[in-house]
Amino acid sequence: MSNKVRVRFCPSPTGDPHVGMVRTALFNWAFAKHNNGTFVFRIEDTDTSRDSEESYQALLDSMRWLGLNWDEGPEVGGPFGPYRQSERMDIYKDVAKKLYEKGFAYHCYCTQEEVEERRKAQKEKGQTPGYDAHCRELTDSQIAEFKCKNREPVLRFRMPSKTISWNDLVRGELSFKHEHIPDYVLVRANGDPLYTLVNPTDDALMEITHVLRGEDLLSSTPRQIALYEAFKEIGVGKGITPDFGHLPYVMGEGNKKLSKRDPESSLLLYRREGFLPEGLLNYLALLGWSFGNDIEFFSMQEMADNFEISRVSANPARFDIKKCTAINADWIRKLSVPELANRMEKQLIDSKILPNSPSPEQKELLISATPLVQERLETLSQVPGMLSFFFVSESEFVVDKEDAKNTLTQDLLPALEKSVKLLRDIPEFKTQSLHDELNKLLVTEMGLKPRVIFTALRVAVTGRKVSPPLFESMEIMGRDKVISRIEKCLKK
Ligand code: GLU
Ligand code: ZN
Repeated sequence: MSNKVRVRFCPSPTGDPHVGMVRTALFNWAFAKHNNGTFVFRIEDTDTSRDSEESYQALLDSMRWLGLNWDEGPEVGGPFGPYRQSERMDIYKDVAKKLYEKGFAYHCYCTQEEVEERRKAQKEKGQTPGYDAHCRELTDSQIAEFKCKNREPVLRFRMPSKTISWNDLVRGELSFKHEHIPDYVLVRANGDPLYTLVNPTDDALMEITHVLRGEDLLSSTPRQIALYEAFKEIGVGKGITPDFGHLPYVMGEGNKKLSKRDPESSLLLYRREGFLPEGLLNYLALLGWSFGNDIEFFSMQEMADNFEISRVSANPARFDIKKCTAINADWIRKLSVPELANRMEKQLIDSKILPNSPSPEQKELLISATPLVQERLETLSQVPGMLSFFFVSESEFVVDKEDAKNTLTQDLLPALEKSVKLLRDIPEFKTQSLHDELNKLLVTEMGLKPRVIFTALRVAVTGRKVSPPLFESMEIMGRDKVISRIEKCLKK
């Protein structure tokens, strides 16, 4: 590759960040890393009616959380800044002016209604509907007439009359016939530049070499390629037309395209649900790309090392939440105990089970409890439910009523009483001896069914029927807590 690879991720800050967007960011990031290139993060915030500061902050925050660090962009800066389009309005005005002066674009005075009406007529005649070049060659007197009517023109790009082709990095050779790409609007009548102008302008000025983006943008590509040719003539950028690769659609429930409006596509949801960024990115990588050799578990660095664009598929990918969750669970198992404890701590703080700065004892307790849940966690949102019994004070501790119903029954009272006595006297309050001694007393001597009596003990001590392993939990909680909880049950 002659030019140093420069790719961009350029979302518009509208609404919540969504997984489709993250997939695009990830593929660009991996492509940049793989080719020792530059990953540019640009914010396309020229639509003041839709963009919001909140969304902008959420975007930056999400990218940081995911670890998709950018080489140039907001907060980081870089030689091609500013990286927020709202701060580049003068540039677009200038480019629009040059395009107009050199004849690559023209003023169109048609109202939307007029354009719409003529489209309808085209359809009725069986023609491909689209702007009919009505204002391409207006005479001075026609223009004067429009001006008299106080009509403000839009700026339209003059599409060259030829077929536009490119070799798509994902989809191979593609071409669009001239009649399918009508002259399109670059600048609104009120002077606002549109995506059609600002996006290619910045790609040219920021010397972007490769554009990887969703298939939904496929139809903009021939227009943009024609615009790059004009840019070469008027000296916008270095004369590079980027290579394009269109990433396959992501399908959601019912084999419908996953839309950013679908709740299950919101990135914040996955974050709240306690997905690890590693797990989520690993899963999203599989939406259109494959590692090869059936490998489905890998880090983003491994993805980057192996990111051959030729292995991006053009076939739609299916978003499968079950698989996403399973990969996340694999990632949870892969973390070291201190690392997992660290992440669980955040979850426990967020759900107010731990204070903002946990004490050394609480931290230690969490570290000891971590191995008990590591194998069974799928997402971190399960952590508070599984572990809160370790941390709540005795006054706050409650036994789940439903779980207690058929487990803590009257007939077990004598067994629980004897257990308390045993727990008080047992010399070593350790997993193995707790298991052995309680088993001897309750099962061998008293003849109780292990499932019945140990479920009762589990509910008494942890508050729930489903919990981390009982004897291990008892050891971690310590003698006093365990006894006090069983006694509390006896009193009731
Ligand atoms: N701002 C555009 C979007 O979010 C960028 C599209 C592109 O990658 O060209 O859809
Ligand atoms: Zn017109």
